[in-house]
Amino acid sequence: MSNELKERYEVVVNSINSKMLEVGRKDEIKLVAVSKTFPVDVIKNAYEIGVRIFGENYAQELRDKSKILKDYDIEWHFIGRIQLNKLKYIVPIAELIHSVTRLEEIKEINKLSTKFNKVQKVLVQVNLSGETTKAGLRSEEVEDFIKKAYEFENVKIIGLMTMAPFTNDVEAIRRVFRSAKFLKEKLLKKFPEIKELSMGMSNDYLIAIEEGATILRIGSKIFGERNGRLK
Ligand SMILES: *Cc1c(COP(=O)(O)O)cnc(C)c1O
Repeated sequence: MSNELKERYEVVVNSINSKMLEVGRKDEIKLVAVSKTFPVDVIKNAYEIGVRIFGENYAQELRDKSKILKDYDIEWHFIGRIQLNKLKYIVPIAELIHSVTRLEEIKEINKLSTKFNKVQKVLVQVNLSGETTKAGLRSEEVEDFIKKAYEFENVKIIGLMTMAPFTNDVEAIRRVFRSAKFLKEKLLKKFPEIKELSMGMSNDYLIAIEEGATILRIGSKIFGERNGRLK
């Protein structure tokens, strides 16, 4: 089991490194191992082979796992849909929240991060595919959103997150990633801290690297297929 995990993880890491070389990228890329729905023992196995950054989608699951693993030097990321009343489970734990889409969330995060004496780093999720099932701001809404968020001192927006459309059409996926990168570069001119671009999952991370992702969120390619629980 653990050996299989190690092999899968190495395949992913090697493919990231060779893609970085191939496209001539010399910057750093952060890999978030998406452990949602996988039990704590699987996270422990991954930790043993050197994984330190884990991504979770569900607030209580994040809270419960991080409690059990409190002695582990893990950097937790929250990547799922945000419910305002669940932020109290997320803010004390998360290094980065990828999926902010509403000003009410910024306000609540600010309240909690002030209470926990931290500055919460977040990404703004953008919906560039136009798919109505996907959360996120439209590109023309982001600048105003960032300006308004400045008012909240204990929240720091450090970049954007996006998801590719649900399709096998590589060029359609590439277009979305490319417009995310374009948007980030545009914002960066006005807001120098908008540096990160979280995009790329198991099926599209190599395209995401080509198009300028700085953070990848990879689950099944590392941990295997998820079964049982809903996505
Ligand atoms: C589940 C999930 C991932 C990882 O998906 P895989 O296809 O298993 O790599 C990444 N990002 C978000 C937002 C997710 O919900």
